[in-house]
Amino acid sequence: MRLWFREQLIKEGGGESKIAGMAREQLKVFTDKYGEVWEEDETVLSTVAGTVPITPEDMADATNRISQAAMAGVVSKHLRREWLQRASALEKARDIAQKNGEWQVPVMCVPITDEVTLDDRAVTGHLRHCLMIPEKLPDIHCACGRARLSRSHVLSCSRGDISQSVHQHDRSRDLVARMARRCGLYAVMEPRKITLQSNGFEGGPDITLSGMQMVAEGDSSVALIDVTYPVAENPTNIPTMMKATKPGAVAKAAELKKYKDREYAYVAARNGFQFYGAAMEKESLAQGQGFYELLKRIAAHRHGEDFNADIDNQYSYSRVGLWCAKTAWAYWRQALMVEFVNNREKVISEAVAKAVDRSEDGVHNAWQHGM
Ligand SMILES: [Zn+2]
Repeated sequence: MRLWFREQLIKEGGGESKIAGMAREQLKVFTDKYGEVWEEDETVLSTVAGTVPITPEDMADATNRISQAAMAGVVSKHLRREWLQRASALEKARDIAQKNGEWQVPVMCVPITDEVTLDDRAVTGHLRHCLMIPEKLPDIHCACGRARLSRSHVLSCSRGDISQSVHQHDRSRDLVARMARRCGLYAVMEPRKITLQSNGFEGGPDITLSGMQMVAEGDSSVALIDVTYPVAENPTNIPTMMKATKPGAVAKAAELKKYKDREYAYVAARNGFQFYGAAMEKESLAQGQGFYELLKRIAAHRHGEDFNADIDNQYSYSRVGLWCAKTAWAYWRQALMVEFVNNREKVISEAVAKAVDRSEDGVHNAWQHGM
């Protein structure tokens, strides 16, 4: 393969400029190290790899297989293969849960408004979790006294004050309602009794939306919404996560449960309303079909409009590598995720502070904010 590869490099049109020479040299170093990985890719062997980059434009050309982008792809494939060999079962499961990349939305979006701005603590906490960088929490018990302190424990902790913040009932409900209102819908939230259980929040943020456009057959202008944010690494959800082969398994299960268990589904059916059970996984941010459809349906009210009523259009990007916030759907999806991650990380920090306060070991200095 390497011989074949070098033949490509002396092809006509490869150029004899200084940059072409440098590119050849770098390619040699690269193929010596990663040739094997490259070779695994059938298309490398069956097609001409490309031309030696001789201009900066060549280097960025995504169709040229001898480009920085192509090489970065090979390196990441190699590193991934190495990682998979030593990853634990939980890490592999988490990798699958995150596979659709939704977790990247909050860290990739352009912070054009406060609603889509991730705070510093949230950036580091979220990246650490999703990239599976070991935690630096103090080695003490959670304030509940029932488990060692860890992110996954905090997110499923049953101690009242911790659990209540984890479920962030009002905040997420309010944001969905704000999205609906800004898309021209009438949103009503009903005060509900908050009941807390260790296995997830049972008094979910329920909203009644009216004035919805009817697009598909069976659509109603009134929708009842029950939003839920399951914790995939909660002991009750972990079996679902561990046996999943696709991302979003825990969100999907949570939505199905809403349809099965909740009275709203029946109330809605009886009144000719629509019911949406909408779930987003608290760690991977993967969303269920109900969540996806709900946001699409709300955002459809802004269909075809430029988003410049809310945001200066010049800040709405659609370039590669940036998330497009040009549509109501993209913007509000980002806002929901950002809000969510900000709050989740805040709750974890607070739970750590509570644990440190109560610890007898006096490890007050062991934990510091951030990375
Ligand atoms: Zn606890």
